[in-house]
Amino acid sequence: MEKQLFINWMLNPAHRMTLTYVISLTIIAALSIFVHFTLDKIIIEQIVSGKLINVSGQQRMLSQRTVLYTNEYIARGVVTDKKKALFALNKMNKNYHYLLKEHFEKLKQNQVSPLSEPMSALYFSEPHNIARKMTEFSSLINQILDRPRSSIDTQSNLEGSIFLFMAKEQILNSFNITVKLYEVESNQQIHELRTTQQLLLIIIILTILIECLFFITPLSIKSNRYSKSLYEEANHDYLTNLLNRRSFAVLAKQFVAISKRYHSDLSVISFDIDLFKSINDKYGHDLGDKVIQNVAGTIQENCRDSDSVFRFGGEEFLILLPKTSMSEAIKLAEKIRSTITNSPTLADKLIIEVTASAGVSQWDSEEKNIESALKRADDALYQAKKQGRDRVVAG
Ligand code: GH3
Ligand code: MG
Ligand code: MG
Repeated sequence: MEKQLFINWMLNPAHRMTLTYVISLTIIAALSIFVHFTLDKIIIEQIVSGKLINVSGQQRMLSQRTVLYTNEYIARGVVTDKKKALFALNKMNKNYHYLLKEHFEKLKQNQVSPLSEPMSALYFSEPHNIARKMTEFSSLINQILDRPRSSIDTQSNLEGSIFLFMAKEQILNSFNITVKLYEVESNQQIHELRTTQQLLLIIIILTILIECLFFITPLSIKSNRYSKSLYEEANHDYLTNLLNRRSFAVLAKQFVAISKRYHSDLSVISFDIDLFKSINDKYGHDLGDKVIQNVAGTIQENCRDSDSVFRFGGEEFLILLPKTSMSEAIKLAEKIRSTITNSPTLADKLIIEVTASAGVSQWDSEEKNIESALKRADDALYQAKKQGRDRVVAG
């Protein structure tokens, strides 16, 4: 039942078009949101990786500083140098924990580390094993700085060279590699996100194109056709396909305006099939319809393209003839009348003879609208009927 209701609803082109629009807009909106989040991720990724690169870069500088001030302290024994060395070392340790914060958090929660394999190897495996080097480096520095000044003095040269070796040859080298790896990984990640974003954009464009090609364009063509056919139906008579009474008002107004503007003639012919009631009675309503169609065809065939033929009532027809004088209109009415008389309707092996009467009038340039001319044509038609039918009378 519901399925049938939906099918009926979908039979309407306007409904189909609405649904297609809704679906296509939803797809495009969803993809756009996706693109937005990807861009967002790229920006965040750039900020985070920028910070990681920066902090890991700082580690190089801090290790150098720690060594430098420790050496200074050993050489000169100035307390400020000791403080500066400890400050740099402290910062180095903080940075180390900042760089591995996520890694440790994930491990605590029994989840997979966010570190890549090479990065993990750098931090926790030989030959670099930064974790080990950091511990050793810190404890060595602390040991030396905690020692009384007198004991340092004697070994200053030896320990100074150990620091330099540690800092420059080992930890510094590992830090350099870390910075490079952070840069490479960040570039890789951003490149991947950019590719995803570009792919999504291509999908959006393709979706729009496909929707235009396969849904929206055919639907709008159909909808155009549908509205045109509705317009045609609204202005035409279903039986004869002639213009109907509804469209008469609009066209008559236009014809009067044009005739007034160009001082041209405008004539009216009113046709009515004679004794049609008895045709209906004798042959039935369906054959009566065929007679109406036959007469309508005869009238239309005898008129010019510039004339307008209306089915005005059951078996009544009206012709508006722009740029046509009264005498020309009478001639045409006469021609149509005789053609109708000589063109019986052939149906169901029957020959249905039919005649028609006509009243002709001409619009007077003094008249504001077609009404008076219409009345004169009607009166003339009435006279034609009165005078015995199958004739044309001028009004
Ligand atoms: P007259 O010569 O005076 O015009 O006589 P008439 O019988 O043609 O005139 P009347 O107006 O009395 O009858 C017109 C008939 O046309 C009456 C109606 O039933 C019939 N009619 C109106 N519309 C249609 C139609 O669409 N199809 C058919 N078959 N008959 C129709
Ligand atoms: Mg009639
Ligand atoms: Mg009639």
